[in-house]
Amino acid sequence: MSLAAQRPRIAVLPELVKNQIAAGEVIERPASVVKELVENALDAGATRIQVDLEEGGVKLIRVTDDGCGMEASDLPLAFAAHATSKLSNVDDLEHIATLGFRGEALASIASVARVRAFSRRHDAPLGAQLEIEGGRASDVREAGGAAGTSIEVRDLFFNTPARRRFLKTTATELGRALDVIQRLALAQIGVGFVATHDGRRLFDVEPSMDLRARVRRTFGAELADALVPVSGADGDTRLEGFVAPVRFARGDTSRQMWFLNGRPLRDKILARVLRDAHRGFVVDGKQPTAFLSLAMDPAKVDVNVHPAKAEVRFRDERRMFGFLVAALRPAVQSTDMATPGERLLSFAQRRDDTAHTHTHTLAPQPAPRQHGFADSGALARGERPMFVRESLAPSTPQAGASTPARLDEPARRGDDTLCGPFLQVARTYIVRALPDGFEVLDQHALHERLTFEQLREEFERGAIEVQRRLTPELVEVGAAHARLLEDHFEALAQVGVLLGRFGEGVIAVHGLPARLRRPDAESLVRDVIATIEASGAAPDSGVLMEEVLHRAACRSSVMAGDELSEIEIRALLARAADSPHDQTCPHARPTRVRFTLADLEKAFHRR
Ligand code: ADP
Ligand code: MG
Repeated sequence: MSLAAQRPRIAVLPELVKNQIAAGEVIERPASVVKELVENALDAGATRIQVDLEEGGVKLIRVTDDGCGMEASDLPLAFAAHATSKLSNVDDLEHIATLGFRGEALASIASVARVRAFSRRHDAPLGAQLEIEGGRASDVREAGGAAGTSIEVRDLFFNTPARRRFLKTTATELGRALDVIQRLALAQIGVGFVATHDGRRLFDVEPSMDLRARVRRTFGAELADALVPVSGADGDTRLEGFVAPVRFARGDTSRQMWFLNGRPLRDKILARVLRDAHRGFVVDGKQPTAFLSLAMDPAKVDVNVHPAKAEVRFRDERRMFGFLVAALRPAVQSTDMATPGERLLSFAQRRDDTAHTHTHTLAPQPAPRQHGFADSGALARGERPMFVRESLAPSTPQAGASTPARLDEPARRGDDTLCGPFLQVARTYIVRALPDGFEVLDQHALHERLTFEQLREEFERGAIEVQRRLTPELVEVGAAHARLLEDHFEALAQVGVLLGRFGEGVIAVHGLPARLRRPDAESLVRDVIATIEASGAAPDSGVLMEEVLHRAACRSSVMAGDELSEIEIRALLARAADSPHDQTCPHARPTRVRFTLADLEKAFHRR
């Protein structure tokens, strides 16, 4: 046999195979078909879209819309590769305002499934219908039906068994398809959606429902009611939407939704924006929940980065990033960060069910001193209620009449609960009355947050007051770390941390922020080294400086177990009432847990 006969010949692929290869990029599973068909309906100006699924979409996906419809003569063209009505030249790619533009989806879908299409324009008396199987189209026939378009996709991957084998269970595929529908329903206010599976209605929203109503329908009332609105503008770029309190943060980003000009996105930069806007409020590894919609000139963003169009490239990424974080931060800070007592109560109840005891949820630590406290032996045995310190009678009985004048940072918000009685429990927690219940505060977490906010505020004004030392405190850190720190001496001085070299491997601490209560210079220096090493950030970056201030605040605040005088406790509460950020400590632990009357009634089975 000659070698020439064996050599493979180059041939142009048949149309069907080309389309199947293209389908490999965009049509992975039923959910991808749903996405493409619903996006087409939206591009056609639909106000109502119905998605019917069978067997997770593998057996049937039918998307019906009331959009503009197609001419009978256009129907076969819609299924030809690279046929689109949405752009006509290369320049159009620079400002894409539709969801689709590649002209590939219908051709791809028709190459891997059995498709039937019906469409009627609003001004046409009759519509047209067409079937395609294995890429071969039937003739177009006249047919009756409502104005709009209905595309039916049956037996997905019937002719590409390799792909079909990659499909997961019906429930999984259905879940993914539903996720696509719900994201689009959240992105497209003004459009109604209905989704059914095997004839049962799974999800619907009315065209008139706003974003909060749609979140309620999708994820429930608890989340929807807790959302805080976000709004901001930078030129003609607008940000609107909601952020949720941090207790709704999750291990994954499934409740992080960004929409750009009505297109749901999963974009790394936007995920980073959310992380930055929540810095200090959400613990590491948790993903905040948010629903955010960006409207901007399509020319300022490239959506043609990936065939599935889930990623984008902003023309001015730095500016965009700064704008978004600045717009989000105030909203994040005004969410309710207190751990609701109700959640804690159900936890305590579960513990009781198994243990049959009422032992120390509030164990005193360390064991309290005798002075001014209940008998510590009894406390340790858990025999007595944990109320360790009771305040004197309310110092100002008329609520809100006046704030105690002698406090070092008095409140100005007129909080009428400030002067009421409180208890210090286990020298760690402060319990005080609220108009509709009571709250328990963690004094260390609260003090830390307040110190940090004051430091940050002073830093932003360029006015951190420094307590200089007559003799520097020396900290041995080793040569490498000393050199590392040296690069940051100037930046650290801006946050009131005055350092110098003292021979090889030793750092001299010449001064620290005056605001710190009992600064532990050595731990602080080690913290700063750890922070610089971990961040890898530029020495003067605000992020790094904030982190140093966090650590400084933490290293100097009232510790759990510190005895506080009544005056000190009142000063702490007053300052907290004055601070907008008093609900979590800088490391995002909550500073307070609230119990409302409703929580108590539930606990006592009164309702
Ligand atoms: P693209 O959306 O990228 O243009 P598609 O293959 O998804 O490509 O669709 C091809 C064309 O078919 C569209 O450009 C549009 O003109 C037409 N089309 C598809 N679906 C609909 C629909 N639901 N209503 C009206 N026209 C449609
Ligand atoms: Mg399309």
